[in-house]
Amino acid sequence: MTTTRTEKSNERDDVPRETSASTARALLDRVAASPAGKRILGEAGVSAQSADPAADFARLPILPRSDLARWQQEYPDRAGFATIPLSDFGRLGYHAGGEVDVAYAGRHGADVMADLFGRLGVTSSDVVVNTFGYHLATVAHVFDEGLRRLGACVVPAGPGNSALQLELFTRLRPTVWLGFPTFLWRTLTDAGSKDTSLRLAIVGGEFAPGVRRELHRQFGIDSRDFYGVSILGPAAYECAEKEGMHVTERMLVEIVDRDTRAPVAVGEAGEIVLTPLDHEYVVPRLGTGDLSRWLDEPCRCGDPSDRIAGVLGRVGEGVKVRGVFVYPRDVRSVRQALPADVEVALVVSRATDGGIRDILTLRVTPGKGPPPEGFEASVGEVFHDVCHVRLDEVTIVPELGTDSVLVDQREWEVAAP
Ligand SMILES: [Zn+2]
Repeated sequence: MTTTRTEKSNERDDVPRETSASTARALLDRVAASPAGKRILGEAGVSAQSADPAADFARLPILPRSDLARWQQEYPDRAGFATIPLSDFGRLGYHAGGEVDVAYAGRHGADVMADLFGRLGVTSSDVVVNTFGYHLATVAHVFDEGLRRLGACVVPAGPGNSALQLELFTRLRPTVWLGFPTFLWRTLTDAGSKDTSLRLAIVGGEFAPGVRRELHRQFGIDSRDFYGVSILGPAAYECAEKEGMHVTERMLVEIVDRDTRAPVAVGEAGEIVLTPLDHEYVVPRLGTGDLSRWLDEPCRCGDPSDRIAGVLGRVGEGVKVRGVFVYPRDVRSVRQALPADVEVALVVSRATDGGIRDILTLRVTPGKGPPPEGFEASVGEVFHDVCHVRLDEVTIVPELGTDSVLVDQREWEVAAP
């Protein structure tokens, strides 16, 4: 397998990491195998037979996540970056905004995921509640296949319906929970009891301040975080030490300066840029919008692989709320469905009752007349249709109080307790 092991060119700590020549050469070959990738190489003046593949790979433009749907629409037969026909993936998803979601083709994805879940502490005797959405998204299915490949038993719970989740906790006695941390926290605190069969929570999303510590303190549940982008697969995961995340062998991870787009020095925050090394969907240099930094100290677990600090925050337009990216263009779509004379802004904040749940508030300025009967509810419906996540509140305000249509007021916690 190709490796992401990076070559440090000398002893200094502040030298940005470089992609090895052999990795870059293999990547350029694979990028050239998709129609969008071929065009990107051509426009950058880079040949797959480059004499200096690492330097040429680094010259490829970083593709903003928000542009992916556009590339996919331009080359629909391969959704832009597929190196095999779409029907050969075996499973295709589709997201609002026109993004095609590809699973790994064949059995390979299950092997990748089985390996990841094994590293995250799942064993063949576990019963795992998978609360990722099985509907129109491929990621929950790939996780499911990986867990079963590992020998674990999967409860395909999907998201939502805390009451039913609690009921199944009692009846099926799961030992591992997989999903977003805010949802687990809400479900457990709704239970009104500290007694749970869960021993481990594997979360694909940031912990709100204090949640990780409280999960352990109040419920005795250990937790592990991992990082990735659904369409490309996992990129990094926490070992038992929970001090940053080890980069997986299957993803080329770069961290670049938000302005200059050059690799950052060790310790400096920048945007995470991903290129998958073992996927049939080869998006070169996808800018995730997530911020992180390289950690330099060796991990206490003894694994010498590169580590990132986890997600420090967001750059760019997209804001991830309850696992879904919401973009300013989505908010503008919502506005277009409302009376022409109103203005809207979406504010993402944290609940004040312990600060654990994301709160989505849509501020709406009043139109010329009084709002029609049921206005707030219908705004909520429109919002859910467009953004696939529910609003908590619609507030009518005389002024929006912001120039941006999308405001993220949340603070992030990265370090383990
Ligand atoms: Zn470690």
